[in-house]
Amino acid sequence: MSNALKRKVNRLGIMGGTFDPIHNGHLVAAEMARGEFNLSKVLFIPSGTPPHKNSRDVSAANLRYEMAGLAIKDNPEFDLSALEIERKGLSYTVETLRILRRTWPDYELYFITGTDALLEIFSWREAEEILTMIQFIGAARPGFDASDFLLKVQKEHPETKGRIHYLEVPALAISSTDIRARVRHGQPIRYLLPESVRLFIQQHGLYITEENA
Ligand code: ATP
Ligand code: MG
Repeated sequence: MSNALKRKVNRLGIMGGTFDPIHNGHLVAAEMARGEFNLSKVLFIPSGTPPHKNSRDVSAANLRYEMAGLAIKDNPEFDLSALEIERKGLSYTVETLRILRRTWPDYELYFITGTDALLEIFSWREAEEILTMIQFIGAARPGFDASDFLLKVQKEHPETKGRIHYLEVPALAISSTDIRARVRHGQPIRYLLPESVRLFIQQHGLYITEENA
């Protein structure tokens, strides 16, 4: 085998999200993707002002960033990036990916989403461009079946062949929306997310009122 072929391929996983708050669904998806696709590391990138979430107030970026930091602290292969929260204005994935492409020139980029987000990717700004830059991993999320979507993509976007991967993971029906509602209603959230994040939410009184729910 030639040296070029033997050279280890570096692969960077990218997990974007609002993370309001980060929970075990995010962590399991990222960790399973890391194992399955041999990713050297997974970068968690909390969004700044999310383009798709204008309808409700999202918690301050620094709080979401801090919670993500607490959640990933004990995994040496997880990292946190302030790339999107430090940027002014709306953060579009394509811009973030261009920056990551320049920052990690020797890495193959793998964008990890749940199947709910996977179903939406063609509505993203410059979706076709994104699909030439990176690979996609759609991790199973209860309630969002991607099989019809994947068949359709195969037919209608043959140029994406081999770049969109479906990943079966031990699916967790956990969402940030549900966690926020639980806090608001005084219901338990323990075991849905890391204990450090649960304590942070408690200490900062997050999600107890409507405007942040
Ligand atoms: P919200 O309810 O506020 O939309 P969320 O739980 O969907 O929050 P996001 O921050 O919107 O979390 O999601 C970030 C990424 O993580 C998305 O790609 C989403 O599909 C994925 N994701 C979220 N929850 C899960 C889950 N339980 N299983 C698999 N993937 C998930
Ligand atoms: Mg979501």
